[in-house]
Amino acid sequence: MAHSSLTDRDRRSVWHPYAPPEAEPLFGVARVEGVRLTLEDGRELVDGMSSWWAVIHGYRHPAIEAALKRQLETLPHVMFGGLTHEPAVGLSERLLELAPEGLSRVFLSDSGSVSVEIAIKLALQFWQARKRPERNRLLTVRGGYHGDTFAAMSVCDPVTGMHHLFSGLLAQQLFAERPVCRFEQTCEPHHTRDLETLLAEHASEIAAVILEPVVQGAGGMWFYAPGYLRRVRELCDEYGVLLIHDEIATGFGRTGKMFACEWAGVSPDIMCVGKALTGGVMSLAATLATEEVCDAVAMSESGAIAHGPTFMGNPLACAAALASLDLLEREPWQERVRSIEAQLREELAPCAALRSVADVRTLGAIGVVELHEPVDMAVVQPAFVEAGVWVRPFGRLVYVMPPYITSSSDLSLLTRAIHEVVSRHT
Ligand SMILES: *Cc1c(COP(=O)(O)O)cnc(C)c1O
Repeated sequence: MAHSSLTDRDRRSVWHPYAPPEAEPLFGVARVEGVRLTLEDGRELVDGMSSWWAVIHGYRHPAIEAALKRQLETLPHVMFGGLTHEPAVGLSERLLELAPEGLSRVFLSDSGSVSVEIAIKLALQFWQARKRPERNRLLTVRGGYHGDTFAAMSVCDPVTGMHHLFSGLLAQQLFAERPVCRFEQTCEPHHTRDLETLLAEHASEIAAVILEPVVQGAGGMWFYAPGYLRRVRELCDEYGVLLIHDEIATGFGRTGKMFACEWAGVSPDIMCVGKALTGGVMSLAATLATEEVCDAVAMSESGAIAHGPTFMGNPLACAAALASLDLLEREPWQERVRSIEAQLREELAPCAALRSVADVRTLGAIGVVELHEPVDMAVVQPAFVEAGVWVRPFGRLVYVMPPYITSSSDLSLLTRAIHEVVSRHT
């Protein structure tokens, strides 16, 4: 059977993310279209994951494909050192128009983790230029996730961040308590006390605070109060440290705002975006910085940012990103995200009554059912496929973040499958 042969070949020769080669059930995908994945054996699944936050307009969107085809025929790739091109310049201009106030320059890179490395380098170079090289540590909050490369790993949650194997080798950063105030709550002074204490004690060695605004993604799928984010901005200003927002998961509408920091009305000094930037067809990320950060880097020893990926500013990826941003401009994504949110809230609510469920929460086009115990993927993953949906739990978290174009009936398929699988198999 073609199906078994693909997965068998895979098991002999390929690694998958965070999984031993033979650990889990594996499914071959033959085609994708709209919100559906077609498996090798012909089964169709409604996608609840947007391929990890990325495919916000659905798969194979004609406008993005047309842009890619046009770009392929003129300039698929060229090095970015000493050369420039319309897709990279056009995209950078568009990102700066959309971005929170104050951000004024863009560094394009290949993936989210790399954009975080660049953000950290910018913060370190900023303080070197200001003759304060001892300000070289980062302060973050527990429960965060910022990527899998070494500097990014150093600011992931030390427990849920999946990187404890390397803990002895990572830069020793400062971790404040997870923001415990829920999205709907008011942020009280005691909620930020731990962060404030760390800032007060270590300000002279801190380069920047880094966190995911409002939604902590892979570190726990947790939504916290915008007031917390406002307080962090105030504290960063008070103690004179830079603020880095990692909007790689939250950017481009997922939480109901273009960027999650808009819930709090604050701007960072440095911002990372990735994931949904190209609408999910190409790997691309960007690090944005304020004029103040750019000026400091310009005054640093070399005057240059110390980074330069081979595929920087890849024109195909930039063309896809421009097409995706055009779609966001043209299409009523706010309305769609709002109605997905309302439906997820209503239809996931009954999960709260299930014995295995600890919490149910929804924000924008993100729905989370948190369990008391981790799921058994060997049982749960095939059960979701049997139910006709692609939902991929992570530890104690069963969650969906569907493409914005998901219809109400497809969304119901997802929420019904979650209720059924959680009640039967957890
Ligand atoms: C996914 C993610 C990253 C890492 O992005 P990659 O493209 O996987 O390297 C960083 N930060 C956040 C918040 C993410 O969700």
